[in-house]
Amino acid sequence: MVEKIRVSVGTLHVIGLRKIRNFNVKMSVAYLLTYVNSRCTQNCLFCAHARESKADLDRVARAYYPAYDFEIVFKHLKKAVEDGKIKRICLQTINHPKVFREIYDLLNELSKLNVPITVSRHPASYDELRELKKYNVDRIVIPLDAASERVFDAIKGKSVGNSYTWEEHWNGLKRAVEVFGKWNVGTHIIIGLGETEEEAVNTMFKLNKMGVEIGLFAYVKIPGTKLQLDKPDINSYRRIQLAHYLIKNGYDLSAFEFKNGRIVRYNIDKKILEEIILSGKPFLATGCPNCNRPYSTESPSGPLYNYPEIPPKEHLRDILKNLLR
Ligand code: SF4
Repeated sequence: MVEKIRVSVGTLHVIGLRKIRNFNVKMSVAYLLTYVNSRCTQNCLFCAHARESKADLDRVARAYYPAYDFEIVFKHLKKAVEDGKIKRICLQTINHPKVFREIYDLLNELSKLNVPITVSRHPASYDELRELKKYNVDRIVIPLDAASERVFDAIKGKSVGNSYTWEEHWNGLKRAVEVFGKWNVGTHIIIGLGETEEEAVNTMFKLNKMGVEIGLFAYVKIPGTKLQLDKPDINSYRRIQLAHYLIKNGYDLSAFEFKNGRIVRYNIDKKILEEIILSGKPFLATGCPNCNRPYSTESPSGPLYNYPEIPPKEHLRDILKNLLR
């Protein structure tokens, strides 16, 4: 029996359980987080829920996920699905000894809503993956978070006391692609954890070749977590977003030139590149269908690392100027 669940405040607004003033962005994914009255068994340095973190348990990146009675949330979700407001459930999970039972209990209920469900979790076995498919789960996300093995080891690998390894996360992604199929598997990459742009591009290229969708995130410093870094440089983030878009659209590594780990040139016809930038598409939030995660990593006053909808023309002109100077 599921008693509680954490729900992002944006989702609470959409399903009518809370009101956020001046929140006018369309959002059709309900972002949920499993409720556990303790911390995760793992210790990822950026995460509010980490074993040794002192952060509030209702934080995920910049967003707040307060705990609510499951029954109330379910009732409101049902209505929002019937009204066509919610088109996907994104269920994020905390790793703890009873996580499998808890996920299946939740999915048992959530699958009654008849919308596709994404489950975001650590690597799963073949049996667990096949089991998930029985509950309307059409996509699985296994967050690498780090853009390279070096960064993974430093922030969520053995050196922080985790059982996670870079290799097993990639094996988990491979197993998931075998069970769910190409492009039905995703990962999250957080930019700003100490990676170079070249490392990020190489990893995105490898993931794209495997048929794994990439959700790009900008690092957010959460009070009480071990990691206290600055936000990534916005221009560097834009270069990585553009690289991601180009890779996703078939460009290979020869499209990029690097110097000291930084993208210094795109080997693409200037006119085509300008058109791509001015389309605004490279700067939208990426990941599962319908996912736009408004303001999950930035304040609405900007700068917007991931735009929830096509950026205004004046923003695009600035982005173009900064990217091609
Ligand atoms: S891409 Fe969006 S919907 Fe998919 S797991 Fe990430 S946050 Fe959830």
